[in-house]
Amino acid sequence: MITHKKRFETIIQKLKDNGHKITPQRIAIVKILVDSEGHPSVENIHAQIKTDFPTMSLATVYRNIVLIKSLGEVLELGFPDGSNRYDGNKPYPHPHVVCIKCKKIVDPDLDSLDEMKKEVEVETEFKILNHRLDFFGICSDCQAGKV
Ligand code: ZN
Ligand code: MN
Repeated sequence: MITHKKRFETIIQKLKDNGHKITPQRIAIVKILVDSEGHPSVENIHAQIKTDFPTMSLATVYRNIVLIKSLGEVLELGFPDGSNRYDGNKPYPHPHVVCIKCKKIVDPDLDSLDEMKKEVEVETEFKILNHRLDFFGICSDCQAGKV
């Protein structure tokens, strides 16, 4: 299990290695990114950061996320409605479960995924490099009418 602290250090180091300045604003963005369990949107990160950096614009947050993404340190989950969400803890492809009501996104542990990848490779003779696997449903909170 990769800890949030380790992910934080990895991303900061990667930024340094690529010649990017480590500003307090940048540190704050990376912190929120790795401390968030729920796959935040840029808007959500911006809302959280405004407490400490009231003047930081949404565009600045967005630029930083794009930068971290270009370094391969955050996974972007794009959705057709444009509400992209981000996972700074697992920057590699992994499946997600999306609640269609409250938009909560959870990482399921799927043991069968490796097997599925092999099955796809055998059946299609593709060399699989990447995958995108989303399950959509209604979370337990929404089923109970709590949200
Ligand atoms: Zn829900
Ligand atoms: Mn995830």
